[in-house]
Amino acid sequence: MHPTLALLDRHAFPALRRGRLETLQVNLGYRCNQSCVHCHVNAGPARTEQMDDATLDTVLAFLSAGRVATLAITGGAPELHPRFRCLGEHARGLGVRVMDRCNLTVLEQPGQEDTAEFLAAQEVEIVASLPCYTLELVDRQRGKGVYETSMHVLKKLNALGYGEAQSGLVLNLVYNPQGPSLPPPQRKLEADYRRILGERHGVRFNSLYTLANMPISRFGSMLVSKQQLDPYLALLRGAHRDENLDSVMCRSLISVDWQGTVYDCDFNQMLGLPLAIAGGPRLKLAELLERDLEGNAIAVRDHCFGCTAGQGSSCGGALAAS
Ligand code: SF4
Ligand code: SF4
Repeated sequence: MHPTLALLDRHAFPALRRGRLETLQVNLGYRCNQSCVHCHVNAGPARTEQMDDATLDTVLAFLSAGRVATLAITGGAPELHPRFRCLGEHARGLGVRVMDRCNLTVLEQPGQEDTAEFLAAQEVEIVASLPCYTLELVDRQRGKGVYETSMHVLKKLNALGYGEAQSGLVLNLVYNPQGPSLPPPQRKLEADYRRILGERHGVRFNSLYTLANMPISRFGSMLVSKQQLDPYLALLRGAHRDENLDSVMCRSLISVDWQGTVYDCDFNQMLGLPLAIAGGPRLKLAELLERDLEGNAIAVRDHCFGCTAGQGSSCGGALAAS
């Protein structure tokens, strides 16, 4: 895979500083039952990295200290981690909002038969990637059979109450473009998804988040191979909007990798670009139990234009109303 970090320091992204911390994003490891073309964590079935008990206990302590209102659990497929449920239950028991970045198909894997029921019982919000409403495009990007299995799982989640306005069980879908282009307007695409998934499959969901592809990891390497990195960066930079800078997710989120190292966001985690205090060494989450990061400089590079281009992009979808 082509490294991209050294190629992402040419366009002077504006300096950013942290605001108040609201969200802890925890990456439990890189094992996944899928190997998607655009995966920014380069996850797959052969990856073995996963958070150990001591690091996970530090995460529990950080949550117990009341440092964040929201926990976002990612991977890989985080449900495959042996203590996924322990983490979710602990956070919910503290009243922390929990979001599971779920690929849907993992809920059909052996050993995961009752994970959907667990998520519903704990009122965990599900954020699920579905890069199109057609079989062809989903299977091309995420693997053969993924669309059909995803529809089956979405119906199961609907039957549990997910996607129903009154149930309190939130199911949000995530769209990203197939290639090096900006996502279309979120509101219009959401309406298309709602209509087509409803008509064809009877599937319901709460919101659609549109995300830009980041020029890093597997997608960035593909751009380098096809000599499309520079044109894509030029597209992102040309569409940059200063008004998106206030709401990029790194201002209120920290991302922790499976070894407990802290980053400004999970894109930086994948680039190996850690959060640093006054240029110091890599920080571990354990060092932040008593420490406030407000005002600290954020490690930015050219990939950050992926967050501020056009309507903007974050783990909660578009930043600007579209
Ligand atoms: S499902 Fe998600 S984590 Fe797994 S390979 Fe696809 S994009 Fe990566
Ligand atoms: S890529 Fe990360 S550090 Fe850069 S603007 Fe986006 S969230 Fe912030």
